[in-house]
Amino acid sequence: MINFELTDIYAGYNNETILSGINLIIEDGIFVIMGPSGSGKSTLLKLLNRLINPTSGRIKYKNKPITDYPIRELRRKVGMVFQKPVLFEGTVDKNIRIANKNITDDESEELLKQVALTNDYIDRSDQQLSVGEAQRVCLARTLSTKPEVLLLDEPTSALDPTSTMKIERLLVNISNKISIVWVTHHVEQALRIGGQVAMIFNGKIHWQGITDELMQSEDQIIKKFISGELK
Ligand code: ADP
Repeated sequence: MINFELTDIYAGYNNETILSGINLIIEDGIFVIMGPSGSGKSTLLKLLNRLINPTSGRIKYKNKPITDYPIRELRRKVGMVFQKPVLFEGTVDKNIRIANKNITDDESEELLKQVALTNDYIDRSDQQLSVGEAQRVCLARTLSTKPEVLLLDEPTSALDPTSTMKIERLLVNISNKISIVWVTHHVEQALRIGGQVAMIFNGKIHWQGITDELMQSEDQIIKKFISGELK
């Protein structure tokens, strides 16, 4: 099933074009957007829940123009998790309920379970969490609106290696039920999480395929990216 279809997209900020001529189909499952810093990955992600709008071109979500969805409905269906966890002052429970006031105690317990936090976290204050735990609470908060797709913008960049592995594993599990579009500039991470991948370079789609094919690529830019020459 196709989630997003981007046709001839140009986008940028203040008259500066960052993305040009993007044609992309994003299907169910995990879709990785990979590329060096500053290549336009976040800009591409932000188009998918209309944090920004393209200057030209068309975007469809589930076969309907993305602009046909009321913005709040779109952002419920297409949830986003950012690089650094941002929590409101208060308990984990409060933070989870901020996005969806109507969830039951059972549902909030289930959300904690999904992000691999035990029940006793529910009454902890935001001040008593590690960065990795805080990021998992942010994920639970995003999941509370029952999104169809999760947009992840370098969700592990603020985390230590152990928390990174933990959150990667649980996101890969979640991707069985909820599609994920995952922005990363770590080729190792792209290889670990697997799935479809598009490489953005200088605001264009430079390469597209599955992660398994990446290491075999003879493309010079991909080789440089894998070897760490391009960051
Ligand atoms: P990536 O996610 O690949 O690191 P970004 O999409 O964040 O790249 O940024 C691409 C380019 O757009 C960069 O040159 C960056 O400075 C610029 N940019 C990003 N966000 C903004 C903004 N809000 N206003 C102006 N320029 C921006």
